Amino acid sequence: MPFALGAIMGQDCGRQGLADKATRGGGAAVTSEKAAGATSVLRRDQADMGWEYAPARESREIVSIAPEYGLFVNGDFGPAQGSKTFATVNPATEEPLARVALAGGRDVDRAVSAARTAYEQVWGPMPGAERAKYLYRIARILQERSREFAVLESIDNGKPIKETRDVDIPLAAAHFFYYAGWADKLDYAGFGPQPRPLGVAGQVIPWNFPLLMAAWKLAPALAAGNTCVLKPAETTPLSALLLAEVCQQAELPPGVVNVLTGAGETGAALVAHPGINKVAFTGSTEVGIAIAEAIAGSGKKLTLELGGKAANVVFDDAPVEQAIEGIVNGIFFNQGHVCCAGSRLLVQESVAEHVVERLRQRLTTLRLGDPLDKNTDIGAINSRQQLDKITELSAAGEAEGARRWSPPCELPKKGFWFAPTVFTGVSQSHRIAREEIFGPVLSVLTFRTPEEAVTKANNTPYGLSAGVWTEKGSRILWMAQKMRAGVVWANTYNRFDPASPFGGYRESGFGREGGRHGLAGYLDV
Ligand code: NDP
Repeated sequence: MPFALGAIMGQDCGRQGLADKATRGGGAAVTSEKAAGATSVLRRDQADMGWEYAPARESREIVSIAPEYGLFVNGDFGPAQGSKTFATVNPATEEPLARVALAGGRDVDRAVSAARTAYEQVWGPMPGAERAKYLYRIARILQERSREFAVLESIDNGKPIKETRDVDIPLAAAHFFYYAGWADKLDYAGFGPQPRPLGVAGQVIPWNFPLLMAAWKLAPALAAGNTCVLKPAETTPLSALLLAEVCQQAELPPGVVNVLTGAGETGAALVAHPGINKVAFTGSTEVGIAIAEAIAGSGKKLTLELGGKAANVVFDDAPVEQAIEGIVNGIFFNQGHVCCAGSRLLVQESVAEHVVERLRQRLTTLRLGDPLDKNTDIGAINSRQQLDKITELSAAGEAEGARRWSPPCELPKKGFWFAPTVFTGVSQSHRIAREEIFGPVLSVLTFRTPEEAVTKANNTPYGLSAGVWTEKGSRILWMAQKMRAGVVWANTYNRFDPASPFGGYRESGFGREGGRHGLAGYLDV
């Protein structure tokens, strides 16, 4: 599925004539005169044509957000110990959405014990064909309620509705469908006859694809016969709680899936709990390392899907217009909150000027704003904390001497926003070339030979993903072999399929999610 950002002329980026005005949040301004010239041409063209977009706002009516949410344990919602709660806010408006239960140690005990009982008495002994029926049911309900999920995810996360509608929710349903198909075929999955589940899985997920990450974790675990305790991210708990409702609707036996909302301490208590047999984590490398240390020697099986600093490599024979779309999707999809984002653009020197110029023109057409508007390409940054991190790293890029550019772009007054940003003149030692920014910020580097491209692409402690753009098939194969990345996309970027394994090397973690490989992490093999 291509993650295409709309090829439309922008209202917010490009049209409003702020070429010489620093923008809020990112402090970003157009710094290249040539680029500013290009954008003003675009603006004139648009004005001449009288292009205007009417608002196309998806209605919120389909979603009903309760003022308070409890923990989902043993098939029911209930308060946390001491009735502690925290707020979740809409990052596009800073509007408080709901109070959500904050799980503590005793709640973790309760959830793990419910999952253990369900594993031993119901889910573990259940034939795979029966388990599959529940997974199919969850998948179908996700499809039936997809609009509700899409709107809720956009409100709680800040990502554009066209992404939740066309990517997050359909892919989440697809994962349940896919793994439902495996539940009664585990004997033939290549792990030997009658592979056994591990028991209770503790799963901790991040905020960038809240429902999709829940599906990535739950679907293979359940198909393999495990029961689960899931900890969604603090800033995006609502879609996991709606998924818990779906589990009720699908009449999933109590205790098979439990959802504990809370902060980092809840996640730490969950992974350290002695009743857990498997830990699956997606998030930052720092927390992944802390988890690996915390459970070392416990015998728990561990899968870590951590950060990345992917190289998207464009050769001089690449189809430039396609590559531009791939570059844009690679780093500006989901506001760059993507572990496999193509955040380092490596362009062959002979075409670098042309590629950067076309990229700038393309960026002036992106529309930033209301995540619920169907024309929006770039939504809100998920939290103030993440906005601060992006702002700090971008400032470091300038301070270290890279050239910063953003399309003219007026940011909304409330909420957390950051203009799409491109750095040129980046050297490998710059922080913006080494650290995961996890925002809409692209660092452009150049190379002369394929060997240099490989060396630069691999010059990172991460190894999650990479892209290569060239018309030569042999070069694609050569690059894919040389680049140390779990996934290499050729003449495309950010394509996912439930049947395809995903995961990294080195500081990007270990273990694979998706496909037949994704089952291995939940089986005693
Ligand atoms: P974290 O790694 O802190 O969070 C991921 C999940 O782990 C959340 O559910 C979090 O809870 C939980 N958690 C936090 N601390 C612990 C702990 N000690 N033990 C167990 N679970 C824990 O990511 P952040 O949200 O803080 O983002 C920080 C940076 O991480 C980002 O700027 C980005 O660079 C990177 N990141 C990378 C992701 C990826 O997919 N590669 C995804 C998300 C972030 P809570 O939300 O309550 O803190």
